[in-house]
Amino acid sequence: MSGAVFFLIVNFVVALSFSTMFLVVAYRSQSRDGALWLGAGFGVASLSALCELLVAYAGPTRLWALGAFATVLCGMVMLTTGIGHMYRRRIDLRLALVFVFASLGLAHLIYDLPRGTPLQAFLYQSPFAAVVLVAALLVFVAHRRTGLDLFLGFLLLVTGVHFLGKAGLAVLVGSGATPKDYVHTNYALISQSLTAILMVAVGLSLLAKLVLEIVAIHRTESEIDILSGLANRRGFDRQVQALLTRNRQVSQAIVMCDLDHFKRINDTYGHHVGDVVIRAFGDCLRQHAPMGSVTGRLGGEEFAIFLSDASMENARELALKLRHATMFLSNLPRGLRVTASFGVAPVSAETELAEAYRQADLALYRAKNAGRNRVKLASASVDSLA
Ligand code: GH3
Ligand code: MG
Ligand code: MG
Repeated sequence: MSGAVFFLIVNFVVALSFSTMFLVVAYRSQSRDGALWLGAGFGVASLSALCELLVAYAGPTRLWALGAFATVLCGMVMLTTGIGHMYRRRIDLRLALVFVFASLGLAHLIYDLPRGTPLQAFLYQSPFAAVVLVAALLVFVAHRRTGLDLFLGFLLLVTGVHFLGKAGLAVLVGSGATPKDYVHTNYALISQSLTAILMVAVGLSLLAKLVLEIVAIHRTESEIDILSGLANRRGFDRQVQALLTRNRQVSQAIVMCDLDHFKRINDTYGHHVGDVVIRAFGDCLRQHAPMGSVTGRLGGEEFAIFLSDASMENARELALKLRHATMFLSNLPRGLRVTASFGVAPVSAETELAEAYRQADLALYRAKNAGRNRVKLASASVDSLA
C-alpha cells in the first residue's frame, strides 16, 4: 500500500469522525444550523477519499476523478456555509450552487489537459482556494473575535493558500501522468498528509468554538434566577467581582433588600402569590437600578443591588426610592400591601466583598429591628429613617 493510499484512508476516517461529532454537537448547540452544515460538509468531503481510491483501482476513471473534485468542493462550500452561520454571515446558496457548477464545468474542461502544467494545476486548485479564503474572510470580518476566532481565521487562510502552493508543487514534482497514477506519486503523499493536518486543525478549532458556545450558554443559565430573571447568588458574586477588579479606584456600594413579613404573605395568600410578589419586586429593582449596576436575588425574598461608581449618598437615595416603589407594586391581589427593608454598605478597594455583605446585612438587621419598611446605612454617621 502506498503512503498516499494510507493517508486517503486516514482522511476518510477523520472527515467522517468530524462529520459525526458536528452532527452530535448540533443538537446541543445554539448555532444548530451552522453545526449541521459543518457535519454535512465533512461527510461529503470524506467521500472524496473513496473517489480517489476508485480512480486508482476501478473504472471509469473520469467519473470518479470528477467525483473526487466535486465532493471536496461541495464539502468545502458546505463548511463555508456552516462557518457563515456561526459568524452570522449568510452565504447566498444560489450563488454557491452556480459556483459549484461552474467549477465542475471547469474541472471537466481541463480534464484532458496535460497534468502538471502550470495552467492545469492552477485551474484545478483555484476553486478550492477561493472557497476556503471566503471562509477565512467571514471569520476575519466578524464583529466579536476571540483568540480562537483569530486562530481559526489564520488556519483557514493557510489552508486557502496551501491549495495554491499545491498547484506549484504539482508543477514541480508532478502529479502523475494520468489520474490513475496520482496515488503512487510523492505529490499525492505530501498533498494527502497536508490535508490530514489542516483538516484536523480546522475541525478541532470549529468544534472547540461550538463547545465553548454551549459552555457559555450553560454558564449564563446557571447564573440566572428563573423566578425573577435576575442574577442568582452565583451570577451576582461573579459579576460584582468582575466590576471590583475593573474599577479598583472608584467608590462603590451595596444595597441589601429583604421583603417584610413575607412568610405571612405566603401563609395568607398562598405560595403562588408569594411568587408573584417576588417577581414584581424583582421587576421594580430592575427598573430602578442604574446602568452599570448589578441586581440579584440572593435567595428566598432577599435581593441586592451592587452600585459601581456610587457614593453612600447615591446608594441611600436609591434605597429610599425602592422603599417607596415597593409599596406600589402593580398586579398584586387587592388589599395586599408589600414593604421591604434595606441595608446599605460601602464597598471600597480595601473592603473585602464578604465584609461589605456583612455590613449591609447588619444594617438590614437594624432596619428590621427598628420596625421594618426602612433604610439603614452601615456607616453610623448618616442613618436614615425613611
Ligand atoms: P422578615 O420581615 O423578618 O424578613 O420576615 P419574613 O417572613 O419575610 O422572613 P422569613 O425568613 O421568616 O420567611 C421568608 C419566607 O420566604 C419563608 C419561605 O417559605 C419564603 N420563600 C423563600 N423562597 C420563596 C419562593 O421562591 N417563593 C415563595 N412564595 N416563598 C418563598
Ligand atoms: Mg423577609
Ligand atoms: Mg429573609
